[in-house]
Amino acid sequence: MTTADLALTDHLRRISALERVAGLLGWNQETQMPRRGAAQRAEEAGAVAAALHALEADPKLAGLCDAAEAAGPSARGTIDIAEARRLHARATRIDGALAAELARTTAEAQNIWEAARAAARFEDFAPALARVVALKRAEAAQRAEPGADPYDALLDEHEPGMTAESTSALFAALRPRLVSLRARIAERGQPAPRLAGSFPAAAQLALARRLGDVFGYDWDAGRLDLAAHPSSSGRLGDVRITTRIDEAEPLGNVFATIHELGHALYEQGLDPETALTPAGASASMGVHESQSRLLENQIGRSRAFAEWLYPELRAAFGEIGLDGPEDLYRAANAVATGFIRTDADEVHYNLHVMLRFDLERALVAGDLAVADLEAAWNARFAADFGVTPPDVAQGVLQDVHWSTGAFGYFPTYTFGNVFAAELDAALRADLPDLDAEVARGAFGAALGWLGPRIHRRGRALAPSRLIAEATGRAPDPATLLDALEAKYGALYGLA
Ligand code: ZN
Repeated sequence: MTTADLALTDHLRRISALERVAGLLGWNQETQMPRRGAAQRAEEAGAVAAALHALEADPKLAGLCDAAEAAGPSARGTIDIAEARRLHARATRIDGALAAELARTTAEAQNIWEAARAAARFEDFAPALARVVALKRAEAAQRAEPGADPYDALLDEHEPGMTAESTSALFAALRPRLVSLRARIAERGQPAPRLAGSFPAAAQLALARRLGDVFGYDWDAGRLDLAAHPSSSGRLGDVRITTRIDEAEPLGNVFATIHELGHALYEQGLDPETALTPAGASASMGVHESQSRLLENQIGRSRAFAEWLYPELRAAFGEIGLDGPEDLYRAANAVATGFIRTDADEVHYNLHVMLRFDLERALVAGDLAVADLEAAWNARFAADFGVTPPDVAQGVLQDVHWSTGAFGYFPTYTFGNVFAAELDAALRADLPDLDAEVARGAFGAALGWLGPRIHRRGRALAPSRLIAEATGRAPDPATLLDALEAKYGALYGLA
């Protein structure tokens, strides 16, 4: 590395450190913060965001990039320069006051959202959400390239290279076959087996830890806590996950934990040399979600995994009301019209995402007012799913994202599902014994395959190129659709 590279790296590491501090504040808010700490936490989050913004907007940063470029940067330095220029442009396009105001307002809005959801009252949240939307619209307007859709500026934050237009095209390709598959399954009216028994929280938590062990989560570089919203946060040597436990039903915890482990194994598996600078960081939210979805769905909801999980569940809970692994496989893949995105099966999930994408795009464009959001949500839900949510807690208030200002984030879930289907196809072609290993609880081979192809490559390539190099072909939504139709066609006896 050149001296100029090192000076730039030093600046970028300070940015990364502050991002992790913000992440720790968020984790603490979700898991441990006392209720009365909310107001001062908002101030703390605002102060960290302002410091972060100052580092990104620092005029010195542009000079550091120029110097590093002139010195002939390494491959890694080239990625860092590009990312530093992107951060700097973004930070200088929005003013510091707006950045700090956004951080304060979203920290408050998150607490208001939580209380409003508990009370199932949209009107309690609407004023706070209106403030967040107004700030995000201001941010998008300041950030957008001249003439571009302002939504693109928000989406680009989470998935570099994707736009509202390319996302719409992808969703248009997925939608008809998903809607048809969901309708054909609903017509069959075939009930799925359900677990029945006693599922105490302590035994569920122990099972979540056991999942961490078998999937190769490094407990010296992470921890597991309970939270309302399962999540993964942090990087490399400190990657924390949370899960939630419902004593009436243990599979929610099992699949939430596996999902978050997928995220966490990516962060723990980054190249230690570069993980704390942009070059070595995770490629995008879509690629991140491909790691969690691959573990949760393609591996976790497989017949082979049910063979491993069934005796584990019996050992943890005794009688569970199922006849064996095949029954568990069917229970884990029950397709049912539900209201909650995070509980949705693979067939319904992407339809939930499309609903949110269209609504948030309309909010950002100014075509939909927050006051009309509840009605718009219910109308669209009825059109897509054939039912209306019984209350706002199971409808428009179910997700934390909008309260945190994460507009442009939802589509990355579907990008992840598309990438995961491609990775699964390539993984199985390369590792013909994968199912046999999964059935005996050995997940090392899958992780060993992902490490050099995804985890340790950082941001060497744009997201879809990264997936294409890992799998040998450009990502295509047909791979996901073919896999879903084959799996659920067999499960539900569709012609
Ligand atoms: Zn996720």
